[in-house]
Amino acid sequence: MITVDTHIHTHFSHGKASVREMYDAARNKGMTVFGFSEHSPRPAGFDYPTDYKEKLTAAWPTYIAEVSALKANQDGITVLLGIEMDWTVGQDAYIREKLAADPFDYVIAGIHFLETWGFDFKPEDWSGWTQEECFRRYEQFFGTMGDMARTGLFDIVAHPDIIKIFSVDTFRTWMATHPAREAVRAALQAVKNAGMAMEVSSAGLRKLCREIYPGPFFMETASDIGLPISFGSDAHTTASVGFAFDELAQYARTYGYTESVYFRNRTMHTQQF
Ligand SMILES: [Zn+2]
Ligand SMILES: [Zn+2]
Repeated sequence: MITVDTHIHTHFSHGKASVREMYDAARNKGMTVFGFSEHSPRPAGFDYPTDYKEKLTAAWPTYIAEVSALKANQDGITVLLGIEMDWTVGQDAYIREKLAADPFDYVIAGIHFLETWGFDFKPEDWSGWTQEECFRRYEQFFGTMGDMARTGLFDIVAHPDIIKIFSVDTFRTWMATHPAREAVRAALQAVKNAGMAMEVSSAGLRKLCREIYPGPFFMETASDIGLPISFGSDAHTTASVGFAFDELAQYARTYGYTESVYFRNRTMHTQQF
């Protein structure tokens, strides 16, 4: 049974519930370790067509204060202060400054942008593309993942194949090719070399792709190279806390995993599931 959920959002970004409400949901679901990983504010030029960026930037100190207060007064659940830091190309200085400003237990890398394009916002962005154009985006995504890992700034790579979100059939076709497997293996090896973990996330089950993030080849490769996994629901509502964790556990066990990891004070801890 998985009782650790370390990918959680709140109403400070585009989530629907408060820090306290998400915590109460975790308690009701039987979580023993619960980590908040609110989206990071993003640097100028990295925007979605409709965005929570300004609201989140203004609320950031409140987010830190509310989670820190819960940490200080936790009753039975280990609360962690995390962040889902957007990987934004060429913005290393911004990222370093942001991460140095608060005492995070862990940093999740969220790759939602290729260059300055937020690729997971509009299905229509993907609909007009040929297979070759999609393949190029996939390659770019996994190259980006390697670059992110090599900075050494992150602990967990979120939703590792989220690039499939609006083109899952084409992505499956790509994954059957040799170059795809090489690209994914290289990215995961960079993640492993950085001392990071790979997230196994139930968010994909709630998106158009209707699949766990990541797919089977990622799980096989991660298991093969000894890459630790962490579990996350990526919940934006109280109902999604610990979402489909039985399914995630069964899925991970298929690939030989019996323990997952979380980070506290930037140090990796393991837990059986
Ligand atoms: Zn994300
Ligand atoms: Zn997230």
